[in-house]
Amino acid sequence: MTFKLHQIGTVHSPFKEKFGIPRQAGLVRGCEGLIELHKPWDRQEALHGLEGFSHLWVIFIFHQAIKPVEKWRPTVRPPRLGCKRQGVFATRSPYRPNPIGMSVVENHGWKKHSGKWYLIISGLDLLDGTPVVDIKPYLPYSDSLPNAKGGFAHQAPKSMNMKLSFSKQAKKEVSQAQAKYPQMVTLITSLLTHNPRPAYFGHIEQRQNFGMKLYDFNVQWEVKGNAILVQSLTPL
Ligand code: SAH
Repeated sequence: MTFKLHQIGTVHSPFKEKFGIPRQAGLVRGCEGLIELHKPWDRQEALHGLEGFSHLWVIFIFHQAIKPVEKWRPTVRPPRLGCKRQGVFATRSPYRPNPIGMSVVENHGWKKHSGKWYLIISGLDLLDGTPVVDIKPYLPYSDSLPNAKGGFAHQAPKSMNMKLSFSKQAKKEVSQAQAKYPQMVTLITSLLTHNPRPAYFGHIEQRQNFGMKLYDFNVQWEVKGNAILVQSLTPL
């Protein structure tokens, strides 16, 4: 059987490219976003009661990881395990038979702006423009299982004990950016100390430079050992 899904909404997120996005929801502080609801699902009645829930499940399409069926692989390489393959159904990889993802995000209510309805969320691990196919309340009595075992991903990845600083230039640029995005310093600090580099980079002794797009900035930083230096925030 095949099924048709409706895109009920679109994610607006600080993350404009896959590189650097947290590997799960709720890991990084300071990442706030919106879900824009589309017609005919943008009805206030459809949100009635949601205000009582602190967290939501967002069911979405990994729209930038869609592969034709012939290219389907039964195993993937989760970043937590470096290059070691695991069965796709034992991972939360975006590359799966149906590109469906699920993230628990924090619920901060909704707003109407220029005739459109938005849910305000935080803690997201979603790319800007991600199509949303469903929203459900997170039910602590059933969704939180303290005795559950987490296989190869039993514990949250540790932030790497990295020391982060901003160059003189980046300090100036980030304080300007904070006027529009008050969470910018928190977001950059939390993101980069969670080690967004591909797992195969391992520990870096030589200086290495990285960059990612965040909101409408290109953030560039350098890593050496356990020191991160944010070099610049260039407007895109
Ligand atoms: N919490 C979700 C997603 C886990 S994978 C789940 O368990 O199903 C998280 C990774 O998905 C991120 O690091 C990012 O690189 C990738 N990602 C996020 N949104 C995406 C999208 N729309 N298309 C493709 N990949 C996406």
